[in-house]
Amino acid sequence: MAKRYDIVIVGAGPAGLAAAEAALAQGARVAWLDAQSAAGGQVWRKDIRYGWPRQAARVITEVVNHPHATWMPQTQVIAAEQNALLLQNEREGWRITYGSLILATGARELLLPFPGWTLPGITGAGGLQALVKQGWPLDGRRVVIAGSGPLLLAAAVTAKRHGAHVLGIYEQASDAAVHGFARKLWRWPGKALQAAVLRSQLAGIPYHCGSIVTRALGEHALERIEIDGPHGTQRIECDQLAIGYGLVPNVELAQMLGCAMKQEGAHPCVDVDTSQRTSVTNIYAAGELCGIGGRDCAWLEGRIAGLVAAGADIDASLLRQQRHARTFAAALREHFKLDPYIHDLAQPDTLICRCEDVPLQALKDYDDARSAKLATRCGMGACQGRICGTALAELGLFPRSGQRPPLFPARLASLGELASSSETEGSFS
Ligand SMILES: Cc1cc2nc3c(=O)[nH]c(=O)nc-3n(C[C@H](O)[C@H](O)[C@H](O)COP(=O)(O)OP(=O)(O)OC[C@H]3O[C@@H](n4cnc5c(N)ncnc54)[C@H](O)[C@@H]3O)c2cc1C
Repeated sequence: MAKRYDIVIVGAGPAGLAAAEAALAQGARVAWLDAQSAAGGQVWRKDIRYGWPRQAARVITEVVNHPHATWMPQTQVIAAEQNALLLQNEREGWRITYGSLILATGARELLLPFPGWTLPGITGAGGLQALVKQGWPLDGRRVVIAGSGPLLLAAAVTAKRHGAHVLGIYEQASDAAVHGFARKLWRWPGKALQAAVLRSQLAGIPYHCGSIVTRALGEHALERIEIDGPHGTQRIECDQLAIGYGLVPNVELAQMLGCAMKQEGAHPCVDVDTSQRTSVTNIYAAGELCGIGGRDCAWLEGRIAGLVAAGADIDASLLRQQRHARTFAAALREHFKLDPYIHDLAQPDTLICRCEDVPLQALKDYDDARSAKLATRCGMGACQGRICGTALAELGLFPRSGQRPPLFPARLASLGELASSSETEGSFS
């Protein structure tokens, strides 16, 4: 028989943490899970050298040890239907049911293909941060950080803290756009302070605007990159390139549950009301999957979702703060809009699906992602189209298609659980 919980929270980043803290404070019994081995999500990922940031460590310890919380680390949701989830960890698959569900599945990086982008030594900007925090050595390596958005600064700080020689940060947005954004920061004093701290930690590291990495070169691994900037093309010798073009909401689970979506540029995000309710009864969503808004916004929305799911009132000031946080997200989108030139960097032989080695030219004859997938295996690999499908949507080739189970590669034994639960307790389609 599937175990039932009052409230289940998927995702242990700032949104999931705030939701758990708020719901537990109302006396609810909460089950809380994340695919990662430690809580904290992307921004508060536990660093093997430095641990969690102080503020996060306090909340994580309180929530994980709360007597009414069931914490399930290294647990993925691999399939879902209303009121039930199929979970999998490294040992088993099992089914749980819930009264209310809070989705706090966050975001992933937008990686866009360009010649050489699959060479060893190239990762996402946040991807490099994640690897380094989990122990990947960077001591003395020459690192270039590129792409777009404030995440580049955070990635550079982490790389530097772990001994990398950061050669420079290359932002695609123009000088005017970045300075225009900086001039607006006074409206969000917390963000202005955060930016000032990051800049002081990066003293001496050059920050170039209007600069786009067009090519990566190397025989067996990355040796150098080419960058087009305001002063022409530049070649830089480096060991590591960390490149990301902003973030994309992780909506696959919400899509599988039938939650209504809205578009943010080329990518869907979950449509919620002011109480973080989705279009599906008893399902709430908070944080980056409702649109890229950053850590503070995720925290506030998680708190709202946790309170409402636990039956508590939300005060007007919380709603005001959330609205203000969302205006920051809108400013980010406006000022760090991608230069269309980036969409044209991939050449016919550039790999689009790096799991299944599918080049751009192999996709030209198809009208939609599903036909292309069936004929070329594009999107059938370990990432299940999260990287290539998202890139293809951004390039305007195919919109993202709906989601079918499993959400992540699953063991046969876990999928067997799908079959047995549908026989005894109703169907997982
Ligand atoms: C790689 C990366 C690095 C980042 N670094 C920074 C930074 O240094 N500073 C900064 O201000 N912002 C950073 N961000 C931005 C970040 O998205 C937000 O600031 C903040 O972490 C958002 O909080 P959240 O709770 O909405 O989502 P997240 O923090 O992304 O948390 C979502 C969690 O949900 C889990 N999850 C998703 N789907 C499932 C599933 N099906 N089953 C189980 N678990 C699931 C994930 O494992 C993840 O831990 C980063 C983003 C990324 C993608």
